[in-house]
Amino acid sequence: MCDICHQVPCHPRCPNAPDPIPVFICSGCGQDIYEGEDVYHILGEQFCERCINEAREEAIYEDDEEFHFDI
Ligand SMILES: [Zn+2]
Ligand SMILES: [Zn+2]
Repeated sequence: MCDICHQVPCHPRCPNAPDPIPVFICSGCGQDIYEGEDVYHILGEQFCERCINEAREEAIYEDDEEFHFDI
């Protein structure tokens, strides 16, 4: 049993825990995506959850002042 976290296997945040294995590299930020984390496959590329959250926003119609129709 581990002396630090007293768990078998080690708690993931224990300094004795083995490094998690990166499964994918995010195409957006280049960071490793580890086993057990969410990964988003988009058009053949992999993105981490953080990039997806940053990319998502609500679609809001903005009235373009410079765009006029001549009727
Ligand atoms: Zn431990
Ligand atoms: Zn990312």
